[in-house]
Amino acid sequence: MSDAAASSRRTVLALAGAGLLSAALPAVAADRPILQATTSQVADLLRAIAGDTATISSLMGEGIDPHSYKLTRSDTVALMKADAVFHSGLFLEGKMADMLDKLSASKPVHAAASALPTDRLIHPDGADAHPDPHVWMDPTLWRLALLGVRDRLSSLYPANTALYAANADKAAAAYEALNLYAAQVLGSVPEKTRVLVTAHDAFSYLGRAFGLQVVGIQGISTESEAGLQRIESMVSLLVDRKIPAVFVETSVSDRNIQALIQGAAAKGHKVSIGGSLYSDAMGPPGTYEGTYVGMIDHNVTTIAQALGGTVPARGFQGRLAAR
Ligand SMILES: [Zn+2]
Repeated sequence: MSDAAASSRRTVLALAGAGLLSAALPAVAADRPILQATTSQVADLLRAIAGDTATISSLMGEGIDPHSYKLTRSDTVALMKADAVFHSGLFLEGKMADMLDKLSASKPVHAAASALPTDRLIHPDGADAHPDPHVWMDPTLWRLALLGVRDRLSSLYPANTALYAANADKAAAAYEALNLYAAQVLGSVPEKTRVLVTAHDAFSYLGRAFGLQVVGIQGISTESEAGLQRIESMVSLLVDRKIPAVFVETSVSDRNIQALIQGAAAKGHKVSIGGSLYSDAMGPPGTYEGTYVGMIDHNVTTIAQALGGTVPARGFQGRLAAR
């Protein structure tokens, strides 16, 4: 608690002791826990569950790549000040691992992905290697992450348990409806073009959930470099399968994607950019695409449309920007 908050609480207690306040004390601002998220997706989970009972912020915003993100001095201050820290987990925030580990000695640190059954994790490089951390791409997995955060918050702040439960139920229902919508629009893509080509491997969970073959030029982390051979084999895939579109990502450079488009053009196959996807960061704060549901709606609607599927003009809830 800050000095100012401690002093205002002392004042309230003194007034109460002097019989100057009625029996039922309103919650004072100092009782609002400070919940610090690493990514905007995790902050969205916290907002969905805790609403305005907590002060919630995210270290990383729009267009930020979590794999390579290094903590700034002010991030470290924010983490120290927080009452509890929530991160995505599975080493998504690769360069923060030590800090998160250290913090867990002095305050609650919760990984959203810790709620997921291990048999639903994807291990792209074999069972012994790190699992793919991009679990929010499957709404049924993110729903489990939501319920895990609800339980952790309830154990930390039991007075709010009923509110957290009601809020989580509402968000879980929205994720379920979103999942049905995604299955419907991605299911409308013709069998032959169900191939999602992106800059890095962030979409394996989406692909598994909705029957798309997913090919990222870089591996699951943006930290690895794409080889020339990899680019050439992907050009062949695009040409052979007549894939009409590839996708760029808001948080990753599109250099490799441009190399693919030029490679396919040299072999007489025109590939267009099917749109920009939100892989590891959501859209701008305050917009629909800046929410978890809006992010996934944007992605699945954009992908289905560019690969020849049938989509409503403005997506799942009619809230997407006009396309
Ligand atoms: Zn990623």
